[in-house]
Amino acid sequence: MSEKVIIIGSGPSGLTAAIYAARADLEPLMIEGMEAGGQLMLTTDVENYPGFPDGIMGPEMMGLFRKQAERFGTRVVSQNVTRIDFSERPFGVWVDSEEFRADAVIVSTGASARWLGVPGEEKLRGHGVSACATCDGFFFRDTEIAVVGGGDSAMEEALFLTKFASKVTIIHRRDEFRASRIMVTRALEHPKIEVRWNSVVEEVLGEDAVTGIRLRDVTSGVVDDLAVEGVFMAIGHDPNTNLFQDVLDLDEAGYLKVHSGTMTSIPGVFGAGDVVDHTYRQAITAAGMGCQAAIDAERWLDGQE
Ligand code: NAP
Repeated sequence: MSEKVIIIGSGPSGLTAAIYAARADLEPLMIEGMEAGGQLMLTTDVENYPGFPDGIMGPEMMGLFRKQAERFGTRVVSQNVTRIDFSERPFGVWVDSEEFRADAVIVSTGASARWLGVPGEEKLRGHGVSACATCDGFFFRDTEIAVVGGGDSAMEEALFLTKFASKVTIIHRRDEFRASRIMVTRALEHPKIEVRWNSVVEEVLGEDAVTGIRLRDVTSGVVDDLAVEGVFMAIGHDPNTNLFQDVLDLDEAGYLKVHSGTMTSIPGVFGAGDVVDHTYRQAITAAGMGCQAAIDAERWLDGQE
Protein backbone atom coordinates (compact mmCIF):
# COMPACT_ATOMS: atom_id res chain seq x y z
CA MET A 1 0.00 0.00 0.00
CA SER A 2 1.25 3.44 -0.81
CA GLU A 3 0.97 6.38 1.56
CA LYS A 4 0.01 9.80 0.27
CA VAL A 5 2.70 11.54 2.31
CA ILE A 6 5.59 10.36 4.44
CA ILE A 7 7.22 12.91 6.72
CA ILE A 8 10.78 12.12 7.81
CA GLY A 9 11.67 13.85 11.10
CA SER A 10 9.65 15.18 13.99
CA GLY A 11 10.89 18.60 15.07
CA PRO A 12 8.78 21.76 14.71
CA SER A 13 8.83 21.56 10.89
CA GLY A 14 7.92 17.87 10.63
CA LEU A 15 5.17 18.10 13.23
CA THR A 16 3.70 21.25 11.67
CA ALA A 17 3.79 19.57 8.24
CA ALA A 18 1.97 16.63 9.86
CA ILE A 19 -0.74 18.88 11.34
CA TYR A 20 -1.37 20.54 7.98
CA ALA A 21 -1.13 17.32 5.95
CA ALA A 22 -3.47 15.49 8.32
CA ARG A 23 -6.02 18.29 8.18
CA ALA A 24 -5.81 18.15 4.37
CA ASP A 25 -6.82 14.46 4.54
CA LEU A 26 -3.41 13.26 3.40
CA GLU A 27 -3.25 10.81 6.35
CA PRO A 28 0.48 11.42 6.88
CA LEU A 29 2.85 8.77 8.15
CA MET A 30 5.61 10.33 10.21
CA ILE A 31 8.87 8.47 10.72
CA GLU A 32 10.03 10.43 13.69
CA GLY A 33 13.59 9.18 14.13
CA MET A 34 15.43 8.22 17.29
CA GLU A 35 15.88 11.86 18.30
CA ALA A 36 12.14 12.46 18.28
CA GLY A 37 11.13 16.07 18.76
CA GLY A 38 14.45 17.32 17.44
CA GLN A 39 16.65 19.97 18.97
CA LEU A 40 13.94 21.55 21.09
CA MET A 41 14.07 18.40 23.23
CA LEU A 42 17.51 19.64 24.30
CA THR A 43 16.35 23.17 25.11
CA THR A 44 15.08 24.71 28.27
CA ASP A 45 12.91 27.80 28.17
CA VAL A 46 11.58 28.85 24.79
CA GLU A 47 10.75 32.51 25.27
CA ASN A 48 10.32 33.65 21.69
CA TYR A 49 7.64 31.33 20.32
CA PRO A 50 4.53 33.48 19.84
CA GLY A 51 1.56 32.39 21.89
CA PHE A 52 3.54 31.49 25.01
CA PRO A 53 3.98 34.85 26.77
CA ASP A 54 5.37 33.17 29.89
CA GLY A 55 7.70 30.88 27.91
CA ILE A 56 7.47 27.13 27.65
CA MET A 57 9.98 24.31 28.03
CA GLY A 58 11.18 22.90 24.69
CA PRO A 59 10.17 19.26 25.36
CA GLU A 60 6.76 20.36 26.61
CA MET A 61 6.20 22.38 23.44
CA MET A 62 7.15 19.44 21.23
CA GLY A 63 4.75 17.26 23.23
CA LEU A 64 1.96 19.72 22.40
CA PHE A 65 2.90 19.82 18.69
CA ARG A 66 2.82 16.03 18.60
CA LYS A 67 -0.51 15.81 20.40
CA GLN A 68 -1.98 18.21 17.84
CA ALA A 69 -0.55 16.19 14.91
CA GLU A 70 -1.96 12.96 16.34
CA ARG A 71 -5.32 14.53 17.03
CA PHE A 72 -5.86 14.82 13.27
CA GLY A 73 -4.73 11.27 12.55
CA THR A 74 -0.94 11.42 11.99
CA ARG A 75 0.54 7.96 12.45
CA VAL A 76 4.02 7.80 13.94
CA VAL A 77 6.82 5.27 13.44
CA SER A 78 9.41 5.74 16.21
CA GLN A 79 12.54 4.71 14.32
CA ASN A 80 15.18 6.09 11.99
CA VAL A 81 14.87 5.89 8.24
CA THR A 82 17.78 3.74 7.07
CA ARG A 83 17.47 3.98 3.27
CA ILE A 84 15.53 5.85 0.63
CA ASP A 85 14.93 5.39 -3.09
CA PHE A 86 13.47 8.44 -4.82
CA SER A 87 14.29 7.21 -8.35
CA GLU A 88 10.69 6.24 -9.08
CA ARG A 89 7.22 6.92 -7.71
CA PRO A 90 5.81 5.97 -5.36
CA PHE A 91 9.01 6.86 -3.48
CA GLY A 92 10.61 4.18 -1.30
CA VAL A 93 11.50 4.76 2.37
CA TRP A 94 12.93 1.98 4.53
CA VAL A 95 13.23 1.45 8.25
CA ASP A 96 15.70 -1.45 8.30
CA SER A 97 13.95 -4.13 6.22
CA GLU A 98 10.49 -2.59 6.49
CA GLU A 99 9.50 -0.81 3.28
CA PHE A 100 7.16 2.15 2.99
CA ARG A 101 5.97 3.80 -0.23
CA ALA A 102 4.59 7.30 -0.65
CA ASP A 103 3.42 9.59 -3.43
CA ALA A 104 5.11 12.54 -1.73
CA VAL A 105 7.83 12.87 0.92
CA ILE A 106 8.58 15.76 3.25
CA VAL A 107 12.16 15.76 4.54
CA SER A 108 12.46 17.52 7.89
CA THR A 109 15.43 15.75 9.40
CA GLY A 110 16.87 18.86 11.04
CA ALA A 111 20.44 19.41 12.09
CA SER A 112 22.68 17.94 14.80
CA ALA A 113 25.20 19.35 17.24
CA ARG A 114 28.73 19.85 16.00
CA TRP A 115 31.78 18.63 17.91
CA LEU A 116 35.29 20.11 18.00
CA GLY A 117 37.14 16.96 17.03
CA VAL A 118 39.99 17.55 19.52
CA PRO A 119 41.81 14.82 21.49
CA GLY A 120 39.91 13.63 24.55
CA GLU A 121 36.54 14.93 23.39
CA GLU A 122 35.06 11.72 22.07
CA LYS A 123 36.57 9.51 24.78
CA LEU A 124 35.07 11.70 27.51
CA ARG A 125 31.66 12.24 25.91
CA GLY A 126 29.15 11.45 28.64
CA HIS A 127 31.94 11.73 31.23
CA GLY A 128 32.07 15.49 31.37
CA VAL A 129 31.85 16.32 27.65
CA SER A 130 28.36 17.18 26.47
CA ALA A 131 26.45 19.17 23.86
CA CYS A 132 23.30 19.42 25.96
CA ALA A 133 23.17 21.50 29.11
CA THR A 134 19.53 20.59 29.71
CA CYS A 135 20.35 16.89 29.65
CA ASP A 136 23.55 16.94 31.66
CA GLY A 137 23.72 20.21 33.63
CA PHE A 138 22.29 18.58 36.71
CA PHE A 139 25.43 16.47 37.11
CA PHE A 140 27.64 19.52 37.55
CA ARG A 141 26.37 20.91 40.83
CA ASP A 142 28.96 23.14 42.56
CA THR A 143 31.64 22.47 39.96
CA GLU A 144 33.50 24.68 37.52
CA ILE A 145 32.66 24.12 33.88
CA ALA A 146 33.30 25.56 30.42
CA VAL A 147 31.04 26.29 27.48
CA VAL A 148 32.58 26.54 23.99
CA GLY A 149 31.05 28.89 21.42
CA GLY A 150 29.89 32.45 20.91
CA GLY A 151 26.35 32.12 19.55
CA ASP A 152 22.95 32.13 21.21
CA SER A 153 23.29 28.46 22.10
CA ALA A 154 26.51 29.13 24.01
CA MET A 155 24.91 32.02 25.95
CA GLU A 156 21.80 29.97 26.68
CA GLU A 157 23.81 26.95 27.83
CA ALA A 158 26.10 29.09 29.98
CA LEU A 159 23.17 30.86 31.63
CA PHE A 160 21.34 27.62 32.26
CA LEU A 161 24.44 26.00 33.71
CA THR A 162 24.83 28.77 36.30
CA LYS A 163 21.91 27.12 38.09
CA PHE A 164 24.21 24.22 38.93
CA ALA A 165 27.84 25.19 38.47
CA SER A 166 29.85 27.42 40.79
CA LYS A 167 31.54 29.04 37.77
CA VAL A 168 31.04 28.91 34.02
CA THR A 169 33.78 30.00 31.62
CA ILE A 170 32.74 30.70 28.04
CA ILE A 171 35.54 29.90 25.60
CA HIS A 172 35.26 31.83 22.37
CA ARG A 173 37.66 31.88 19.44
CA ARG A 174 37.15 35.55 18.61
CA ASP A 175 36.91 38.81 20.58
CA GLU A 176 33.20 39.29 19.92
CA PHE A 177 30.10 37.12 20.32
CA ARG A 178 27.69 36.51 17.47
CA ALA A 179 24.78 35.89 19.87
CA SER A 180 21.87 38.34 20.09
CA ARG A 181 22.42 41.41 22.24
CA ILE A 182 19.96 40.44 24.96
CA MET A 183 21.62 37.04 25.45
CA VAL A 184 25.12 38.56 25.45
CA THR A 185 24.11 41.15 28.05
CA ARG A 186 22.58 38.52 30.29
CA ALA A 187 25.67 36.33 30.05
CA LEU A 188 28.22 39.13 30.56
CA GLU A 189 26.33 40.53 33.53
CA HIS A 190 26.01 37.19 35.26
CA PRO A 191 28.30 36.99 38.32
CA LYS A 192 29.10 33.31 37.75
CA ILE A 193 30.08 33.70 34.09
CA GLU A 194 33.56 34.57 32.83
CA VAL A 195 34.76 34.75 29.25
CA ARG A 196 38.05 33.62 27.72
CA TRP A 197 38.20 35.57 24.45
CA ASN A 198 40.37 34.60 21.48
CA SER A 199 40.83 31.11 22.82
CA VAL A 200 40.46 27.66 21.34
CA VAL A 201 40.28 24.27 23.03
CA GLU A 202 43.21 22.11 21.98
CA GLU A 203 42.46 19.09 24.14
CA VAL A 204 39.98 17.83 26.70
CA LEU A 205 41.95 16.54 29.66
CA GLY A 206 41.14 13.59 31.89
CA GLU A 207 41.28 9.79 31.93
CA ASP A 208 37.87 8.57 33.12
CA ALA A 209 36.28 11.99 33.59
CA VAL A 210 37.03 15.53 32.50
CA THR A 211 39.59 17.29 34.69
CA GLY A 212 40.26 20.28 32.48
CA ILE A 213 40.77 21.71 29.01
CA ARG A 214 43.94 22.86 27.28
CA LEU A 215 43.46 26.31 25.79
CA ARG A 216 45.49 28.23 23.29
CA ASP A 217 45.23 31.98 23.04
CA VAL A 218 45.06 32.60 19.28
CA THR A 219 46.54 36.08 19.54
CA SER A 220 49.50 35.39 21.85
CA GLY A 221 49.92 31.66 21.16
CA VAL A 222 50.10 31.00 24.92
CA VAL A 223 48.85 27.57 25.96
CA ASP A 224 47.45 26.92 29.43
CA ASP A 225 45.14 24.47 31.20
CA LEU A 226 41.83 25.44 32.75
CA ALA A 227 40.58 23.09 35.47
CA VAL A 228 36.95 22.20 34.81
CA GLU A 229 34.83 19.13 35.46
CA GLY A 230 32.59 19.64 32.49
CA VAL A 231 32.81 21.10 29.00
CA PHE A 232 29.73 21.86 26.93
CA MET A 233 30.06 22.27 23.18
CA ALA A 234 27.78 24.90 21.65
CA ILE A 235 29.49 25.47 18.30
CA GLY A 236 26.61 25.06 15.89
CA HIS A 237 25.05 22.27 13.93
CA ASP A 238 25.30 20.20 10.76
CA PRO A 239 22.31 19.26 8.61
CA ASN A 240 21.11 15.65 8.74
CA THR A 241 21.35 14.92 5.04
CA ASN A 242 23.53 11.78 4.90
CA LEU A 243 20.59 9.77 3.55
CA PHE A 244 20.17 12.18 0.65
CA GLN A 245 23.77 12.53 -0.60
CA ASP A 246 23.85 12.05 -4.39
CA VAL A 247 20.04 11.89 -4.42
CA LEU A 248 18.83 15.41 -3.68
CA ASP A 249 20.70 18.62 -4.50
CA LEU A 250 22.58 19.91 -1.43
CA ASP A 251 24.50 23.16 -0.96
CA GLU A 252 28.23 23.33 -0.08
CA ALA A 253 27.47 22.99 3.63
CA GLY A 254 25.24 19.95 3.03
CA TYR A 255 21.86 21.66 3.48
CA LEU A 256 18.96 20.64 1.23
CA LYS A 257 18.37 23.00 -1.68
CA VAL A 258 14.74 23.91 -2.35
CA HIS A 259 12.98 26.02 -5.00
CA SER A 260 9.43 27.18 -5.73
CA GLY A 261 8.66 27.18 -2.01
CA THR A 262 9.86 23.89 -0.52
CA MET A 263 10.39 21.61 -3.56
CA THR A 264 13.73 19.78 -3.59
CA SER A 265 15.50 18.77 -6.79
CA ILE A 266 13.08 15.82 -7.13
CA PRO A 267 9.44 16.81 -7.79
CA GLY A 268 7.25 15.40 -5.03
CA VAL A 269 10.02 15.51 -2.42
CA PHE A 270 9.86 18.58 -0.21
CA GLY A 271 12.22 19.96 2.42
CA ALA A 272 11.47 21.98 5.55
CA GLY A 273 13.13 23.27 8.71
CA ASP A 274 16.78 23.27 9.78
CA VAL A 275 17.74 20.66 7.16
CA VAL A 276 17.11 23.43 4.60
CA ASP A 277 17.57 26.64 6.54
CA HIS A 278 20.94 27.63 7.92
CA THR A 279 20.03 31.28 8.27
CA TYR A 280 17.14 31.61 10.68
CA ARG A 281 17.06 28.21 12.43
CA GLN A 282 14.25 29.11 14.80
CA ALA A 283 11.38 26.91 15.96
CA ILE A 284 8.90 29.39 14.52
CA THR A 285 10.58 29.56 11.09
CA ALA A 286 10.91 25.76 10.99
CA ALA A 287 7.22 25.41 11.85
CA GLY A 288 6.33 27.94 9.14
CA MET A 289 8.32 25.99 6.59
CA GLY A 290 6.69 22.73 7.67
CA CYS A 291 3.33 24.35 6.95
CA GLN A 292 4.57 25.48 3.52
CA ALA A 293 5.87 21.98 2.71
CA ALA A 294 2.52 20.38 3.58
CA ILE A 295 0.63 22.88 1.43
CA ASP A 296 3.15 22.46 -1.41
CA ALA A 297 2.81 18.66 -1.18
CA GLU A 298 -0.97 18.86 -1.16
CA ARG A 299 -1.05 21.12 -4.25
CA TRP A 300 1.53 19.02 -6.04
CA LEU A 301 -0.42 15.81 -5.34
CA ASP A 302 -3.61 17.49 -6.59
CA GLY A 303 -1.82 18.36 -9.80
CA GLN A 304 -0.77 14.73 -10.33
CA GLU A 305 -4.32 13.40 -10.35
P1 NAP B 1 25.89 29.65 15.75
O1 NAP B 1 25.09 30.89 15.81
O2 NAP B 1 26.33 29.10 14.44
O3 NAP B 1 27.17 29.87 16.67
C1 NAP B 1 28.19 28.92 16.74
C2 NAP B 1 29.31 29.51 17.55
O4 NAP B 1 30.31 28.51 17.71
C3 NAP B 1 29.95 30.72 16.88
O5 NAP B 1 30.22 31.70 17.84
C4 NAP B 1 31.22 30.14 16.29
O6 NAP B 1 32.27 31.05 16.31
C5 NAP B 1 31.55 29.01 17.24
N1 NAP B 1 32.24 27.91 16.56
C6 NAP B 1 31.86 27.21 15.47
N2 NAP B 1 32.75 26.26 15.16
C7 NAP B 1 33.73 26.36 16.08
C8 NAP B 1 34.93 25.65 16.29
N3 NAP B 1 35.30 24.63 15.52
N4 NAP B 1 35.70 26.03 17.32
C9 NAP B 1 35.33 27.04 18.14
N5 NAP B 1 34.20 27.75 17.99
C10 NAP B 1 33.41 27.40 16.97
O7 NAP B 1 25.13 28.43 16.43
P2 NAP B 1 24.13 28.44 17.67
O8 NAP B 1 24.61 29.23 18.78
O9 NAP B 1 23.89 26.98 17.91
O10 NAP B 1 22.80 29.08 17.11
C11 NAP B 1 22.17 28.57 15.94
C12 NAP B 1 20.90 29.35 15.64
O11 NAP B 1 19.93 29.09 16.64
C13 NAP B 1 21.13 30.85 15.62
O12 NAP B 1 20.32 31.40 14.61
C14 NAP B 1 20.64 31.29 16.97
O13 NAP B 1 20.15 32.61 16.98
C15 NAP B 1 19.52 30.30 17.24
N6 NAP B 1 19.33 30.11 18.69
C16 NAP B 1 18.47 30.97 19.34
C17 NAP B 1 18.26 30.86 20.70
C18 NAP B 1 17.33 31.79 21.38
O14 NAP B 1 16.89 32.75 20.76
N7 NAP B 1 17.00 31.59 22.63
C19 NAP B 1 18.94 29.87 21.43
C20 NAP B 1 19.82 29.03 20.75
C21 NAP B 1 20.02 29.17 19.39
P3 NAP B 1 32.30 32.35 15.35
O15 NAP B 1 31.35 33.31 16.00
O16 NAP B 1 33.70 32.76 15.37
O17 NAP B 1 31.82 31.87 14.01
